[in-house]
Amino acid sequence: MHEQTNWAGNHHYRATRFAEPQSVDELAALITDSPAVRVIGSRHSFNDIADSDDLLISTTGLPTSVEIDAEARTVTVGGGVRYGDLALALQQAGWALHNLASLPHISVAGAVATATHGSGDRNGNLATAVRGIHFLSGTGEAVELRRGDPGFEGAVVAIGALGVVVALTLDIVPTFAVRQRLFSGLGWDAATARFDEIFASAYSVSLFTLWDEPTVSLAWIKERVDEPSRVGEDFFGAIAEAEVRHMIAGMDVRNVTEQVGVAGPWSERLAHFRYEFTPSTGAEIQSEYLVPRARAVEAIEAVRALGPRLRGLLQISEIRSVAADRLWLSTAYETEMIGLHFTWVRDSEGVAAVLPAIEEVLYPLGARPHWGKVFAGLDAPAMYPRLGDFRALADRHDPESRFRNAFVRRVLA
Ligand SMILES: Cc1cc2nc3c(=O)[nH]c(=O)nc-3n(C[C@H](O)[C@H](O)[C@H](O)COP(=O)(O)OP(=O)(O)OC[C@H]3O[C@@H](n4cnc5c(N)ncnc54)[C@H](O)[C@@H]3O)c2cc1C
Repeated sequence: MHEQTNWAGNHHYRATRFAEPQSVDELAALITDSPAVRVIGSRHSFNDIADSDDLLISTTGLPTSVEIDAEARTVTVGGGVRYGDLALALQQAGWALHNLASLPHISVAGAVATATHGSGDRNGNLATAVRGIHFLSGTGEAVELRRGDPGFEGAVVAIGALGVVVALTLDIVPTFAVRQRLFSGLGWDAATARFDEIFASAYSVSLFTLWDEPTVSLAWIKERVDEPSRVGEDFFGAIAEAEVRHMIAGMDVRNVTEQVGVAGPWSERLAHFRYEFTPSTGAEIQSEYLVPRARAVEAIEAVRALGPRLRGLLQISEIRSVAADRLWLSTAYETEMIGLHFTWVRDSEGVAAVLPAIEEVLYPLGARPHWGKVFAGLDAPAMYPRLGDFRALADRHDPESRFRNAFVRRVLA
């Protein structure tokens, strides 16, 4: 048994064998040789989503090709590519992605599989950029689907249940510059009463909070330089920060991307963390719930009421907005969402003890948990209207249930 853990070290993958194929041909042989297979990308998920009853495959050795098609406005990336390398290659060629997550360290295929997102009212999650997907199915067959093909909308955010993604074609846009400014001391009254105005005020808006505090600690604003600014020096009563800040008190500010209004390429501003440094703290567990935008203020007030119970466990929370999409298992399927994210200390038992209380208030509002983070319960049939179609898609591409680990069985049950 080869012991493998996730990036944060809070989860030991269940598996009896481990492989790191160096080519797509080697990968295909591994899939058909095993009764149970799962893959891991850059290991930044926090739960048992990648556990395997037999073989665990790392995509680290798969091709890291990046091919730009300027005419089609797409980039096609190999299964081993991380956003940090992709962003650099695109920027050098004058192109951009529409958005990034908080960190560029994650693999593109792994992020897409779990509906990873950044922020911005007009920005769909990262999976919405996918125009084409190429995977090896449970029978080892190469399958290619393009936007518009039957089943495509089910195959993009697939929680690893259809097979191993070996290439993705993504939409690209001409490069753009972004400036980041942080504002401290946003009052809760303004944050809730003017919620829509606040989130509409820039390309990407995040609010960082510990909930149980008199004001939101930081509003993190990312503006496109080519759009007129709607943010002055006073952000709904909050004050612009003159110094660079990390969202977690006491952490090294060298780890975060350039702030205080210095304009720079999207590739060096849309993520909160720099590729060359450790993102977040490393010693942590994360949870996140995507709540329908229409219920955002109720959700925030409900979590604030739980604030004293979260104290001691919570390093920081982040509130973001995500545009609706059509991807069957996307946490923003057909609904504009607000993400309520929690970076916890690495105390699995403590976190497990508070999650039911959070879910008790957020699930009745229509919340869906982030696929790659820690959650307690899940009623997937109630949360995902296309779950039956997804099950049929999984049966078609993986008839022997090779990719159906305990996590997927719970989702499809
Ligand atoms: C510090 C930190 C910050 C984060 N910030 C954000 C954020 O801003 N927004 C957000 O939404 N999430 C965020 N996350 C969560 C993270 O983006 C997701 O967990 C994402 O899935 C990580 O990608 P990965 O390659 O590490 O996936 P892994 O954890 O390696 O794999 C996750 C799942 O993806 C599937 N998968 C991976 N590769 C493939 C493949 N080639 N083919 C098929 N399936 C595959 C597998 O089912 C696997 O089980 C953060 C995580 C960390 C650690």
